Amino acid sequence: MKFSRMFIPTTKETPKDASLPSHQYLVRGGFVNQVGAGIYNFMPLGKIVLEKIRNLVKSELDHAGCNEVQLGFVTPIELWEQSGRASKMGLEMLRIKDRKGGNFVLSPTNEEAMVELVKNRVTSYKDLPLNLYQINTKFRDEGRPRFGLLRGREFLMKDGYSFHESEEDMIREFHLMEETYKKIFTRLGLDFRVVEADSGAIGGSGSKEFHVLANSGEDTLVVCKNCDYAANIEAAKRKPKEIKGKSEKVKEKVLTPNVTSIEDVSKFLDVEPSQTIKAVIKKAIYEDTQKVAVFFVRGDDELEETKASNSVDALELIDASEEDIKNAGLVAGYVGLFDLPKDVVFVIDNELKDEDNLICGANEENYHLTGISLKDLVDGKYDDLVVVQEGDKCVCCGGELTHTKGIEVGHIFQLGTKYSASMNANFLDRNGKARPFVMGTYGIGVSRLISAVIEQHHDDKGMIWTKETAPFTVDIIVSNAKNEDEMSFANHLYDALHKFKIETILDDRIDARYGFKMGDFELIGFPYGVIVGKKLADGIVEIVDRKTLQKIEVQKHEVVSKLMELIG
Ligand code: ATP
Ligand code: MG
Repeated sequence: MKFSRMFIPTTKETPKDASLPSHQYLVRGGFVNQVGAGIYNFMPLGKIVLEKIRNLVKSELDHAGCNEVQLGFVTPIELWEQSGRASKMGLEMLRIKDRKGGNFVLSPTNEEAMVELVKNRVTSYKDLPLNLYQINTKFRDEGRPRFGLLRGREFLMKDGYSFHESEEDMIREFHLMEETYKKIFTRLGLDFRVVEADSGAIGGSGSKEFHVLANSGEDTLVVCKNCDYAANIEAAKRKPKEIKGKSEKVKEKVLTPNVTSIEDVSKFLDVEPSQTIKAVIKKAIYEDTQKVAVFFVRGDDELEETKASNSVDALELIDASEEDIKNAGLVAGYVGLFDLPKDVVFVIDNELKDEDNLICGANEENYHLTGISLKDLVDGKYDDLVVVQEGDKCVCCGGELTHTKGIEVGHIFQLGTKYSASMNANFLDRNGKARPFVMGTYGIGVSRLISAVIEQHHDDKGMIWTKETAPFTVDIIVSNAKNEDEMSFANHLYDALHKFKIETILDDRIDARYGFKMGDFELIGFPYGVIVGKKLADGIVEIVDRKTLQKIEVQKHEVVSKLMELIG
């Protein structure tokens, strides 16, 4: 490709809302442009990278036995009603009406449509297993679309769905997909971790996420320093904390005027915060109702909201207002485990089970209870509610846990029969009995990956593409395109590299100076540049490595072999 023939509108302007390098460089490098909040056009360079990632994903999936299909982007709402998700999807699912008043959605994911596709077409265990996927546009009306392609509203996702006769076979496929995803992300040149994850609104049991490690990542990961354990903080576990040095307190109600925070309570009663119980009051949102819910955790722990939301089966949790708290009959700052108003939903963290000699609110203004024992609580629901902190101990090996940031680029689920059962999608098993398919589901954020690659591979000058993602591997930079010798050698080199299937762009722009061309090379981030300049008269050109920006001089007849050696 000749630079002069290509539409690459690079610019020095950084978009005002672009805080991350990937967002800034993709716009400045002329890869994408924003059409509306979270909606992007892909310009030629962006489209090349998108297709490269798409093809790489496809080649590995096809190799693993998956079949590519393409579903309609617009899905009838009926399918979502059949599965029961129409009311659960919330505002992220954009609903539209056609001219006849029919209700449709812009697909945010496609479990229902894929189940509908195989229903009555796959009828026997003999047709199983089957893994179908598509690489297709998705729309989610995200509350805060941001960071360029990292959190768009319209984006490209690979979504795959597998169908099995048994749980066991689905788990086999789940492992195969895990291995296949690892191959994909490794080939893309990414440093990533596979982590235990929360299953979210999709439902189902076991799930794992694939995270590209980057400080800009929106997800916090808990990682063991000693073993392979890694989990999204939303699903992370730890070894129960050991509490030492408790000061003995008698069981009584004590006056604690204006002592409402954990810090104040522990100071006032001279105990460690770990000896107190923190009550976090939230409002749980359901399909058709809202309830005030109280979550009890140890005083020195924090509430993990996804865990908390799952524990009460809510769609989401929001902060409870002062009025909500009052109306529920609760006294802010003095909420405790005993004598709670009857209709208040509450959950207690697992690590408090059977613990004693603790302090909590008395559910009465200005009073706390000391010396309480959880054994005295008649009925309480327990669940894992706490944020796993840095320094906590690994549940697998006891090693030290740390936090790191990740960008979620893939998510695989063991789904089970949730959708096949609700949508009546059955097959005849080996005994001739009709049973719902056992399913798995597997996603990859294809367009998000473009940004993830850059978040991990850039410097202060621009992007640095990895081998498999670079829009072109080599940029031949002609220092002075008016010089016939330079142009003639550059063209010759361009043809030679083409013959060896090295993807090359030739910067033949007549009116761009050398410095400007180098600036574009650095910003766009082609892995190698070949500078054809004054030294050509002595038979020498320079190869620049974009990663190190180091230049090496090469005899002009050796440049092809040197590049082949570098590219590998
Ligand atoms: P997130 O937690 O980032 O919102 P999710 O859990 O909603 O992601 P999934 O429903 O598992 O995502 O979708 C599969 C994949 O699609 C994700 O792993 C992610 O890579 C990608 N993805 C999800 N939402 C977006 C988005 N708004 N923009 C770009 N890619 C996205
Ligand atoms: Mg999401």
